[in-house]
Amino acid sequence: MIDLKNITFKWHKNDNKPTLTISELVIKKGERVFLHGPSGSGKSTLLTLLAGINTATSGDIFILNKNLNTLSNTNRDVFRADHIGYIFQNFNLLPYLTPIENVILGCQFSKSRQKTALKQSATLNQEATRLLNALGLTEQYHKKDVATLSVGQQQRVAAARAFIGSPELIIADEPTSALDTNNRESFIKLLFEQAKHSNSTLVFVSHDESLQPLFDRSINLISLQENI
Ligand code: ADP
Ligand code: MG
Repeated sequence: MIDLKNITFKWHKNDNKPTLTISELVIKKGERVFLHGPSGSGKSTLLTLLAGINTATSGDIFILNKNLNTLSNTNRDVFRADHIGYIFQNFNLLPYLTPIENVILGCQFSKSRQKTALKQSATLNQEATRLLNALGLTEQYHKKDVATLSVGQQQRVAAARAFIGSPELIIADEPTSALDTNNRESFIKLLFEQAKHSNSTLVFVSHDESLQPLFDRSINLISLQENI
């Protein structure tokens, strides 16, 4: 699913030291991977590279056997829309839309994800409803403005948006940081159920190491970078 070789990444070309230097990272299809490291260690930066939001300064990143560095900006955007669901740390939801509308936006730029969603349910509306229920947002909230929901509820909307149309890769950037421990674990279990349902690989970032035992594998970004 992910194959990354000898990459460096600098935010600015004049930086004297790269933010990231990684010799190898391989993640297999279907794995649920926990990526951790202290604040500022480059976790979010790495996720933007995996999603093709930023490109490596040197080295190659293959996602589903596609070398992201060889794609044009437009084709990288298309690739991301088709294959990657991204749960942002701040969720990036549209506040004046409802949860249902926000979830449908998750597949608006991808014909193939719309098609997959419509194999699950008769309409995109019904598929958004199914996902919101599966991720633990009860129906009374489905048609309210997203801005009126709690952080925990917004997080469920962001997750449902990432999963619509069953992208092969789900990337989650500290989506549980605002939740208490019990809610964190139960939310992660719902993420796992959906990942299984849609056959998605899951890369989950957190600085909270207590979550580590829930995952198939855990990667420490600091030792990954020392391993050059
Ligand atoms: P983490 O997610 O592990 O807390 P980040 O990837 O956000 O770490 O940050 C790693 C480093 O990259 C930090 O030194 C941070 O200041 C820098 N950085 C993050 N985002 C940007 C940006 N948009 N522009 C320039 N530097 C950035
Ligand atoms: Mg971060």
